[in-house]
Amino acid sequence: MDIPQLQPNFETNVNGIYIAGELGGMGLIRKAVEQGRQALESIAKSRGTGNQLDVLIVGAGPAGLSASLAAMDKKLRSITVEQEDSLGGTVYHYPRNKIVMTAPVTLPIIGQVKMGEISKESLLDFWQGIVSKTNLKINFNERMEKISSNKQGFTVTTSKAVYETKNVLLAIGRRGTPRKLGVPGEEQSKVVYRLVDPEQYRNQRVLVVGGGDSALEAALAIADEPGTSVTISYRSEAFGRVKQKNRERLQQAEAAGRVKVVLKSGVKEISPEGVTLVQEEDTMELNNDIVIVCAGGILPTPFLKEIGILVETKHGTV
Ligand SMILES: Cc1cc2nc3c(=O)[nH]c(=O)nc-3n(C[C@H](O)[C@H](O)[C@H](O)COP(=O)(O)OP(=O)(O)OC[C@H]3O[C@@H](n4cnc5c(N)ncnc54)[C@H](O)[C@@H]3O)c2cc1C
Repeated sequence: MDIPQLQPNFETNVNGIYIAGELGGMGLIRKAVEQGRQALESIAKSRGTGNQLDVLIVGAGPAGLSASLAAMDKKLRSITVEQEDSLGGTVYHYPRNKIVMTAPVTLPIIGQVKMGEISKESLLDFWQGIVSKTNLKINFNERMEKISSNKQGFTVTTSKAVYETKNVLLAIGRRGTPRKLGVPGEEQSKVVYRLVDPEQYRNQRVLVVGGGDSALEAALAIADEPGTSVTISYRSEAFGRVKQKNRERLQQAEAAGRVKVVLKSGVKEISPEGVTLVQEEDTMELNNDIVIVCAGGILPTPFLKEIGILVETKHGTV
């Protein structure tokens, strides 16, 4: 696992860039919340000047939410950007009704929260309630794309704006950013980038795009649900880099007519009722309710290295 080097106050070796939450190596909600709060306590000691922000917070998972509340509590000039349209980060993507276990945490402004065992949905509702109650502003659908340092601090470029800030808090977790297809119609809510719960696709016509294990596993899991019609589209002529077990299961599902495989194909356009695929010279129209794109992602580690943050690779021990 690649772990960025952090000081006890969660600052990286690049002065003014902080990391909180799972990206720092600790995969627990409680830790993410605590680290978000503590990082902000340190950031509050070094505020921006002029029109600069004090801090730009990237990510609205548990770490980013806690940090954003702390920034509000300390009356910092801060902005929180989140690439997705939802609050909660990884928690939002847990399977439906998953029981989340978390020890008591102290949330800025709110105080101590004792949860124990709680469903994913109740936890997200609780967080959403806090955002509404405090009027916390989160810029959803805004992805941080570039950070460059300057004499005063940092220039952060997002998918929507350019910000000048004294400090940056990266609360971006470890999942990275899913790679998009870049085709017309992709912005519709029927296009998703990971499978959360196969059951929700019962009686639906689903297209899975991709040729890795996650694409095959998604297609197979959905095909097991009653009433589904599943097609998998992949640009190459074979599933060359997948586990043998997945390849065999897909062959069986195809032979049984449970999954339709369209190789050497790509998505041209997505409409509310269908999808246009291109296969070599031919165009194919599919009736479709859901598109699941499993085309890999842009992972955070190369980005950290690019901005000069020291990252150490730690190997697990048996
Ligand atoms: C299946 C599963 C079950 C789990 N169960 C538990 C449990 O029961 N108890 C527990 O304590 N922990 C559990 N965990 C771990 C816990 O979910 C994580 O440790 C926690 O969510 C980490 O929080 P975070 O804020 O650091 O990152 P995340 O929750 O991953 O949030 C990061 C956010 O940053 C956003 N982001 C990333 N890149 C950008 C960018 N460039 N621009 C803008 N936004 C960006 C992402 O979209 C995301 O919303 C579980 C994890 C998994 C996968």
